[in-house]
Amino acid sequence: MNKNEIVKVNITDLGTDGEGIGKTDGFILFVKGAVPGDEIEAHILKVKKNLGYAKIERILSPSPDRVEPKCTAANRCGGCQIQQLSYEKQLEIKKKKVFDCLTRIGGVDPETLEKCYEGIIGMEEPWHYRNKAQYPVGIDKDGNPRIGFYSYHSHNIIENDECEIEKPLCALILKELRAIISRFDIEPYNEELGRGVLRHCLIRTGFSTGEVMVCLVVNAKGKEMNNWKAGSEPMETLVKALKEAVDKSGFKFVSLCVNVNTKNTNVILGDKLYPVYGPTYINDMIGDVIFRISPLSFYQVNPVQTKKLYEKALEYAELTGNETVWDLYCGIGTISLFLAKKAKKVYGVEIVPEAVENAKENAKLNNISNAEFFCGAAEDAVPRLNRELTNAERCDVIVVDPPRKGCDEKLLHTMITMDPIRIIYVSCDPATLGRDVKFLTEHGYRLTGACAVDQFCHSMHVETVVSLIGPRGRG
Ligand code: SAH
Repeated sequence: MNKNEIVKVNITDLGTDGEGIGKTDGFILFVKGAVPGDEIEAHILKVKKNLGYAKIERILSPSPDRVEPKCTAANRCGGCQIQQLSYEKQLEIKKKKVFDCLTRIGGVDPETLEKCYEGIIGMEEPWHYRNKAQYPVGIDKDGNPRIGFYSYHSHNIIENDECEIEKPLCALILKELRAIISRFDIEPYNEELGRGVLRHCLIRTGFSTGEVMVCLVVNAKGKEMNNWKAGSEPMETLVKALKEAVDKSGFKFVSLCVNVNTKNTNVILGDKLYPVYGPTYINDMIGDVIFRISPLSFYQVNPVQTKKLYEKALEYAELTGNETVWDLYCGIGTISLFLAKKAKKVYGVEIVPEAVENAKENAKLNNISNAEFFCGAAEDAVPRLNRELTNAERCDVIVVDPPRKGCDEKLLHTMITMDPIRIIYVSCDPATLGRDVKFLTEHGYRLTGACAVDQFCHSMHVETVVSLIGPRGRG
């Protein structure tokens, strides 16, 4: 097989980035935009030893699961990966992915899993579901400013004001920001040179409170910061415009803040945060718990599904009111406070200081006095706290909700020595979940429940919650 050759291929699978996968001539071909069931002519773009990358030249016979993407930029935008697949099929594929990871990587017996796997909870209306948008700011080939999304597998910015997964409100905010950029000649950041000022625009919306925050990430120091301070002309103009635009669309503009990031890195946010207008947080509610959220803190992006996820975690925890619960990787205390109402005591551990501050404030805001929060890496802090808090009650339930890389093995060892009745594992990556479930089941725990929740419709990501019962729980 050679570059630029056109080959016929049947797509049979989806890769981790949502590309269609098919076999031809002993080669495995990855084809962007193709979906299982498609019969296509593929245009070979790149060939390696026994695999290749291709684009669709022509669809000979479309998959019965193929649909017209709702978003006009779907083919170019790197935000969504599988809008061309019907939502029902997306759910089916994610459901199977979780099952496969738990059995193949996790070593769970398929028949056992069959009995306790609840499948996937999808969305009724899987559009405009995100409460957070982060737009890179840059320049195009002709030197003009651009704000939008990165295109697929690149850092080229495409402008797309009709995103179908963000709130339409975001487009109004970007319009005002573009006006400020041109009026005040603000220089967008150039990643390659590490020069320029405005890097990103973050927007967070509290779905149940209607509160909106805009956070601008800038590469600025000393005098360069003058433009970005409260009272400066560009900021005054922006605040006025945003207030009008946001409030007119039925939301409440409550905060504009500036985050400073002077490092030449892919990490979006720096550590320093300055208020320009209003506080440096917004409030939102999940169920009847209110949360204060800083732009530096993690907060689930799909509030409708988050409620279902936390309710499932709560159900799996089987709390009666007498339990001591540890919530590790607790963020702003969302799961902790959800559980605190049904538990005797909750200890939360989280690595980001601002998130821990938010968690403490959130406990107060909700009049919850049986939750305590600690800052530190869970793998270091939990063994220490477990020793120091000698007066702490024996741990009954551990909830973990780690980032994609899963739990540190040191933490898994500590969890085993804490001997909880139950472990509830919330995961955003079924592969590392599988790996950690294998560890826990090899150390005396047994899987008793599993449920996937679709938090990221039209992307390949899937959230899962599982429950495991330990020797103490089995009597
Ligand atoms: N349970 C929370 C947050 C989950 S996201 C919620 O549902 O909102 C994962 C969290 O783990 C993030 O807040 C991140 O800052 C934190 N984190 C990452 N590495 C960590 C570590 N080693 N120890 C403790 N927390 C960590």
